Amino acid sequence: MQINIFLVYVLIHFDVHGSRLEYSYAARHDIPICSLAQRSASNTHLQESYDVIVIGAGAAGSIVSTKLATALDMKILLVEAGIQTGSNDNENITDPALWLNVVHNDTLEWHFTTVAQTALNNRTINLGFAKGTGGSAMHNAMGYVRGGQRWMDAWEMNEGVVNWNSETVIPYFDAVEEILRVVYPANDTQGLVDAIFQAARTAGFPYNPSYNHGPDMLGMANFVMSINDVGTNMTQQAKSMYNRVTSYQKYLQALQPANLQLVTGLQVIGFNFTNDPLPTVDHVELYSEEYQCKHSVAVEKELILSAGTINTPKLLQLSGIGNATYLKSLGIEVVKDLPGVGINLRDDVVVNLVYTTDFVEIESPPASFLSAVLFAVDNSTTQQVPYVDGTGSLTNIEMLFSTGNMIGNSWPSDWQNSLVLSPNIQQCKSTGTVKIENLNPLIAPAIDPAYLSVESDFDRVINSILLSRKLLSQPSFAKWNFREVLPGANYQTRDELIEWIRGNATTGFHYIGTCKMGTDPLAVVNPTDMKVWGVERLRIIDASVAPSSFSANTQSLVYAVAARAADLIVAEYRQKQKLHD
Ligand SMILES: Cc1cc2nc3c(=O)[nH]c(=O)nc-3n(C[C@H](O)[C@H](O)[C@H](O)COP(=O)(O)OP(=O)(O)OC[C@H]3O[C@@H](n4cnc5c(N)ncnc54)[C@H](O)[C@@H]3O)c2cc1C
Repeated sequence: MQINIFLVYVLIHFDVHGSRLEYSYAARHDIPICSLAQRSASNTHLQESYDVIVIGAGAAGSIVSTKLATALDMKILLVEAGIQTGSNDNENITDPALWLNVVHNDTLEWHFTTVAQTALNNRTINLGFAKGTGGSAMHNAMGYVRGGQRWMDAWEMNEGVVNWNSETVIPYFDAVEEILRVVYPANDTQGLVDAIFQAARTAGFPYNPSYNHGPDMLGMANFVMSINDVGTNMTQQAKSMYNRVTSYQKYLQALQPANLQLVTGLQVIGFNFTNDPLPTVDHVELYSEEYQCKHSVAVEKELILSAGTINTPKLLQLSGIGNATYLKSLGIEVVKDLPGVGINLRDDVVVNLVYTTDFVEIESPPASFLSAVLFAVDNSTTQQVPYVDGTGSLTNIEMLFSTGNMIGNSWPSDWQNSLVLSPNIQQCKSTGTVKIENLNPLIAPAIDPAYLSVESDFDRVINSILLSRKLLSQPSFAKWNFREVLPGANYQTRDELIEWIRGNATTGFHYIGTCKMGTDPLAVVNPTDMKVWGVERLRIIDASVAPSSFSANTQSLVYAVAARAADLIVAEYRQKQKLHD
């Protein structure tokens, strides 16, 4: 009888990304608890309880768990759903020039896809999201951009993110960089990077010797990357002299605190509460795909969500925290009505502009992108080349440069000998949502970034294309005789460019904002201690807490937020201890 009931709940479905047959369950409550035999066979050595449980060994979780473990005498569990990366990693993970190979890898990815995007001809967009220790730092392009001091101050001034400003955050950028030792990759040897620098100068942009230090970032600079220059990756595919550097390697692997236990291959599927009198987290449920059963582990002091911008709101919703009306419509018992969970999803938008040449053989870049980046300010709503004087505005176009023969690119072979300009459009006004659509914890939520749903975001993409054309028309590129193949000569007017953008714009991979810090009714996290408003023993520390878009790639911000948040928690426990003594 028990077996029959169990079978009723086991649904068979086809993976949306292929024809792979998978077993899943209607809801997390239906998943059976692992038997003693399964528990010992899984060899995770899970204990009954931990003081602190951190979910996600990604960019943030690696820093938070290691810093807490080294500072506090507590038993800490770090749970990672993906694989453990380490000393015998394949070169795709270690060599930053091969990042696109990981993004396209089946086992190292969550395979998130957006819902159809109205402004992009109803296309769905594949969102990279790495599954394994290191998180998305395991496969990202490693661009390292702080974003200037002004956005940090804007968070406090405009978003109510109390005590998060350039004064409090910059020391944490400094501290993390000291440990990661980010570097400028060498210029290429063909003069292509030199030509880009000259073109920016003749187009009116200043040279910016150090964009990560200073109030704003306007100008042309060498691209700083979160890689080191002692790489030995002389692979057959690429000739990178660099290794990628992640917070997982430099914090967790380097320090390996004895009171920190890492388990991999277990996916957190939700958590349970007592009412004390506020909802208080007391157990976490961990799903073993291998054994198709779940472990339940007690939380003595607190649970920290570092599962990233998509899975953190998903886990909250599955556990009863979110918009009460919506949760009830799915049949979920509401633990805390927090309407801000899963809204305010923000991302940058990218278009890839391809210029081919028959005159010079272009080599692939030494790391992922070339060592050149141009930060521009575009405040116009008309079709004109972006504004280039420094008036203190936040930069909002980050022009990246690579080549068409970068490993993993999928251009037709006759486009591969090319220079690719990829404007990363920042400070976008469009916002979207992450929502679970049913109770099954093993199914991805509906992700709707609503790309380019605000008209002014379109204008910025148009102006970035005009900027690329202006750069490519500068005399320093004369000897290459570049030919524009994307968008191409047929796309000139605003309407024509909009048509092309609808068919080609894609993600900037910089998802943030779905559990924002703040003090307004839509805020999810209290900025003074990272606790979820109205819930005990639950904090969030990852990219989801960023309240608004800023002028940077997101990894450096996540590192600084994680390092500062960990210190806030340590200070809180030390204070409690002092009062107790
Ligand atoms: C393809 C790509 C390229 C990028 N390039 C750059 C770049 O060049 N520069 C830059 O600054 N930023 C870049 N980024 C962004 C940057 O990597 C992210 O902002 C950053 O990694 C986010 O950190 P996080 O800790 O919030 O999430 P992540 O680093 O993604 O970590 C989340 C972790 O949680 C785990 N997890 C999730 N759900 C569960 C669960 N239920 N149970 C257990 N574990 C779970 C995940 O497997 C993952 O390991 C890129 C991102 C992508 C996807």
